[in-house]
Amino acid sequence: MRQSKAEYIWLDGSEPTKKLRSKTRVIEYTDTPTLDNFPQWGFDGSSTNQASGDNSDCLLEPVSFVHDPIRGQGHYLVMCEVLNADGSVHSTNTRAVLRRALEQGGAQEDFLFGFEQEYTLLELDGTPHGWPTAGFPEPQGPYYCGVGAARIAGRSLVEAHLDACIEAGLLIYGVNAEVMLGQWEYQIGYRGFNETADPLTTTDHMWFAQYIMNRLSEDYDLVVSFANKPMKGDWNGAGCHANFSTKSMRDKSTGKTAVDNALKALESTHQDHIKIYGAALDERLTGDHETCDINTFKSGNSDRGASIRIPVSTAEKGYGYLEDRRPGANIDSYLVAARIIATLLNQEFQASVNSQIRESVTA
Ligand code: ADP
Ligand code: MN
Ligand code: MN
Ligand code: MN
Repeated sequence: MRQSKAEYIWLDGSEPTKKLRSKTRVIEYTDTPTLDNFPQWGFDGSSTNQASGDNSDCLLEPVSFVHDPIRGQGHYLVMCEVLNADGSVHSTNTRAVLRRALEQGGAQEDFLFGFEQEYTLLELDGTPHGWPTAGFPEPQGPYYCGVGAARIAGRSLVEAHLDACIEAGLLIYGVNAEVMLGQWEYQIGYRGFNETADPLTTTDHMWFAQYIMNRLSEDYDLVVSFANKPMKGDWNGAGCHANFSTKSMRDKSTGKTAVDNALKALESTHQDHIKIYGAALDERLTGDHETCDINTFKSGNSDRGASIRIPVSTAEKGYGYLEDRRPGANIDSYLVAARIIATLLNQEFQASVNSQIRESVTA
């Protein structure tokens, strides 16, 4: 009998930043599986900071799946929401916060997201990949979008990851080398293609892409760091710019007002956003290295020192998307998407999402 390997993936309860966990379930092969082919499963929550030892069972509820590009055809990566033993939503389950935000009004606005995930490749001893073991490489300048062995480190892993994301069917938009040597970026989200790119799909794909990057790094003896500021000093931090738009922001007749309203709403909720934009965010949002100071809110056309950058296409046309430059590389994109949706919608709805976010952050 032919069988499939299904890698069940979930977010744990690590603090201050959740980590990915996964384990393999063997299922009977079917040509075109649906979610029903992946049974609910369980795990030991006392080993993942999600339960106590005397009451350790947590449940894994499969919610979406893609082809596993590493194990190949007929094998799957399965995203799971964590439930308590009684089937209720676990307090660390931030995907449920986004799911409810969409159910409670967010879905009407047809939100589109695109995340620019930056990360840093490290040697097993913690030195950034490509850096000399003692001392520093040449100062920043030549590395961003560079080419050639003197300016680039880690390209083969980056290419393997890009191929794997395409093979899995993820919403991968592109990749580039970043400002610090050993630092890279991939983007996940809306591509302008005729395909499903709703907020849950995009954020699930963010976690699938992160799983694949971590899994492939094992074969290269490299460590993938999503730290906000892996190297102190005159080196860029790693962020995760969140690009977003609503139906009314993208519409020619309503766009100008919707974009202006979004900027006002984002200004008045600055601190609510900062709270969930990643651990140690103050180390990255210093006002230098293409960031805006953590205590200041600023928006501007093409301004890479702003909290919100208005991309040139949006500024020129008067409608389109905005770039939130504040999120750090270690964000939970489920929470960030829910937060942005709540801020852009009406007050009543904001209050409900606010309290759910608070619950899951203080859990
Ligand atoms: P940057 O110039 O900031 O480096 P990138 O080219 O790396 O930008 O990424 C652009 C991002 O914008 C992608 O993640 C893409 O999904 C996103 N994006 C483009 N158009 C839209 C849109 N209409 N709504 C939401 N996100 C969008
Ligand atoms: Mn980018
Ligand atoms: Mn970047
Ligand atoms: Mn950007």
